[in-house]
Amino acid sequence: MPESEVRSDFALDRTQERLEEYLTTVFAASEVTVDQQEGAWRITSQSDTPTGIGPLDSALARADDGRIRLVPAAEIAESGETDVELGPDEYVRAPDGELVEAILEEDADSSPVGRWRVGDGISDIPDPDWLAESPIEVTNRSFRPYYDRTAVCIVFEASVETVSEFEQTIVVPIAVDAETGERLPKLAAWFDSVTAEPQPGDGRVEVVEESVSADALDGVRSAAQSHAESVLSPKLESIRDRSLRAANVELEEYAGLQDDRIEELRAERERVAEKLEAVGRELEDAADRAERLAAMEERSELREEREEIESELEALESKRERDYPEKRREVRERHAVEVALEAVTVTVVEYEKGDLVVGLAEGGRSRSVTLPYGRGVGVTDAVTCNRCGCSLDAQTSARIGEAGVVCRSCRSERSGR
Ligand SMILES: [Zn+2]
Repeated sequence: MPESEVRSDFALDRTQERLEEYLTTVFAASEVTVDQQEGAWRITSQSDTPTGIGPLDSALARADDGRIRLVPAAEIAESGETDVELGPDEYVRAPDGELVEAILEEDADSSPVGRWRVGDGISDIPDPDWLAESPIEVTNRSFRPYYDRTAVCIVFEASVETVSEFEQTIVVPIAVDAETGERLPKLAAWFDSVTAEPQPGDGRVEVVEESVSADALDGVRSAAQSHAESVLSPKLESIRDRSLRAANVELEEYAGLQDDRIEELRAERERVAEKLEAVGRELEDAADRAERLAAMEERSELREEREEIESELEALESKRERDYPEKRREVRERHAVEVALEAVTVTVVEYEKGDLVVGLAEGGRSRSVTLPYGRGVGVTDAVTCNRCGCSLDAQTSARIGEAGVVCRSCRSERSGR
C-alpha cells in the first residue's frame, strides 16, 4: 500500500477492520515479527527503533524481550468484565485502545497529507433543490469537465471543557479551495459522507499516489481554521451562556450563605440589646446590694457578648464587600469555557469542474440547460428565473416556460393561469 493511502485512512472512520489493515501495513514495513495467537498479536522487536513510531517503539523497548501483545477488544468484552486487567506488555487492539490512539496520533502528525480525487459519477449527486422539488423531469445529464480544482478537507476537533458540564468533542469538517481559501460546504458534506461510509473504495475516491507536504498547506489551514471557528461560535456561545448561568447560581449560593449568617447575627444582636435593657431596669429596681451586684455582672457579660457579635458582624460585612468581586472573578474564571481546536486529518481533494448539460422536460416542453458543476460538489452556482431573475429554490418551484426555466409565478402569468 503506498504511503499516501495509509495516510488517507486517518480521514476515515476508525473501524476495527481499518485499524487492523493499518496496523498490518505498519508492521509489514517495520523491523518486527508478528505472530498471531488465537486473536492476539504478538509483536517482537528486531531492532532499537523498529517502527519509527514513538509510542509503539517505546512500548516495545519497555517490554520484556522486546515483545508486546495486542489483544483484541472482543476478547476482553467476552470475558464479561468491563475493566479487565491487561497483563504486562499487553495492549488493547481497538480504535480506542490507549496505545493504538497514541500510534494513530503520532503517525498522523508525521505523515504526509493524503491526496484524493473525487470519483463520484454525475448521477451520484442529487440535483439542486430548485430542480428536485419541481415537476420538471430530467431526461439526461452530461458533464463536460474543463479544469481541475484543488481543495483541502480538514476535520477539526474542538474539545470543549467547562466545570459544570462533561468535556465534549465537536467535530467540524471544513473544505476550502486550496488557492483562495474560500469555504466549500458542499465539498465538506461530500467528504463527510465518503469518510462515514464503511467502504469508501466504491469508486467515490481515487487515492493519488503523490502526496502533498503538510507545510505547503499552512495558509489554507489557517483559513480553514477560521471557518471552523465561525461554524463553532454559535455552539460555543450557548455553552458559554450555560456556563455563566452555572457560575451565577454558585455565586448566589455563596452570597446566600453569607447573608444568612449576617441575618442570624443581627437577630442575636437585637436579642442581646433587649436583654441589656431588661438588666438595666433590674439594676434600677434592685432591692439590695446582692441583687445589684448580680445585675451588674449580668450586664457586663451581655456587653461582652454584644461586642463579640458586633465584631463578627462587622468582619462579615466588610469581608462580603471586599471579597465578593474577588469571589466573582474566581467563580467566573473557574466556569470559563476552554476550547482546544485541533486539525485531526488533512486531505487534499481534487475535483473536476465544468458544465453539466441537463435535458429537461415538463408539460410538453423540453429544454436543455447548462449549469456550472463540480464533481462531488454538484451544481455550484445559483440559478435564476429566465424571466424575472428571481433566484430559483425549492419554494419557487421551477417550470419550463417559453423563456426557458422560469419560476412558477412567471409561468402562470404568461399562460394566464
Ligand atoms: Zn420568474
